[in-house]
Amino acid sequence: MHDFNYKHNDLYCESVSVEELAKKYGTPLYVYSRNTLISHYRKIKEAFSPINPLICFSMKANSNMAICKVLVKEGSGLDIVSGGELYKAFKIGVSSRKIVYAGVGKTEKEIEIGIRHHIFLFNVESIPELELINKVAGRLGMRQKVAIRINPDIKARTHRYIITGHGENKFGVDFETARIIFLDKQKYKNLSVSGVHMHIGSQIVDAKPFIKAMERIIDFIKDMERHGLGIRWFNIGGGLGIIYSNEKPQTAKEYAKAILPILKNTKANIIIEPGRFIVGNAGALITKVQYIKKTPSKNFAIVDASMNDLIRPSLYGAYHEILPVRSHFYSDSKEIKDFDVVGPICESGDFLGKNRKFISLKEGDLLSVMGAGAYGFSMSSNYNSRLRVAEVMVEGSKSRLIRRRETYEDLIRTEI
Ligand code: PLP
Repeated sequence: MHDFNYKHNDLYCESVSVEELAKKYGTPLYVYSRNTLISHYRKIKEAFSPINPLICFSMKANSNMAICKVLVKEGSGLDIVSGGELYKAFKIGVSSRKIVYAGVGKTEKEIEIGIRHHIFLFNVESIPELELINKVAGRLGMRQKVAIRINPDIKARTHRYIITGHGENKFGVDFETARIIFLDKQKYKNLSVSGVHMHIGSQIVDAKPFIKAMERIIDFIKDMERHGLGIRWFNIGGGLGIIYSNEKPQTAKEYAKAILPILKNTKANIIIEPGRFIVGNAGALITKVQYIKKTPSKNFAIVDASMNDLIRPSLYGAYHEILPVRSHFYSDSKEIKDFDVVGPICESGDFLGKNRKFISLKEGDLLSVMGAGAYGFSMSSNYNSRLRVAEVMVEGSKSRLIRRRETYEDLIRTEI
């Protein structure tokens, strides 16, 4: 599953002691296992090898360039959603032919940069956006390939903030609008409207909603074929869930086994854009207990990481396992106490975990917040003027700083 394991009583990432990493780089600290990252990419690649899809790692999950570079070297493309991610994608050196660009609010400037650099596909989310891409491509005297993101109106079982394929969500267009676009596609003279795209949400643990959505979209593709309109690309999005606590998500193999028979019903080439599945369990946030605070109703472990470093618990009520970096194996259950693990930010919503059981937690202890590789650092902020933390990649017995910790000068660099 991942490469964070105890050796005797000490937590290791691959062959490096997490305590040593905390000493060397300080806390809070994001630590990533290169091996976990690569092995999850390969799991997807192998599971889908019968159809050889274009895999585009979803940068929003983790856009650290060192992380993306590892995946790009493995052959991955990139799924992007902003001019910033496009900029980083170029810096990483991914072939522009492997960049797909989604998002409901692409600006004219972002569109122009994408077209100028010959990115592979824009995943278009509305008719006004389609018209704008057509206009910009015309102005540049270029032709751009696009896919239409279809909202298949499927309600997947996940947190309501990360459902994206239900009719009431802002993403994609309904089938009728997609039909109008394809039947009318000659009017977009500077575009090759040649693909369809879906992404129904994130952290989805079973195949059923994916299957339902794909069946609907393949019916659509067939309908278009009956009108003589071939669709060359079908981007099936990301969304594969991972284990945070007691979920039983499908493996890449199980997912492929469930959906490959569906995808065989279309001649379209498949694109897949997973984020969380690849990087989620490859990362942990290491934090130090600053204070133990006991109130009449609670024990608090006040740690040096906070909602600005990892917002998922505050934003979605998401669960992350929290492990002691130095484990204590007591048999006497009376030693076990419940703690809320909270950060220093001035919000009651600032917590990393509630009612977590620990043995003799004390000031100075290190904790590891697991499964923090996806939507961890990439959603971090400077709230409360806190400095963003460092990130480290471990490879075997070596560690490498892949983002330095911010300084107070960084904090005011852009202010005038
Ligand atoms: N593709 C699109 C269009 C997305 O919006 C997202 C995430 O929100 C992803 C892919 C990646 O999703 P996940 O990390 O769940 O695989």
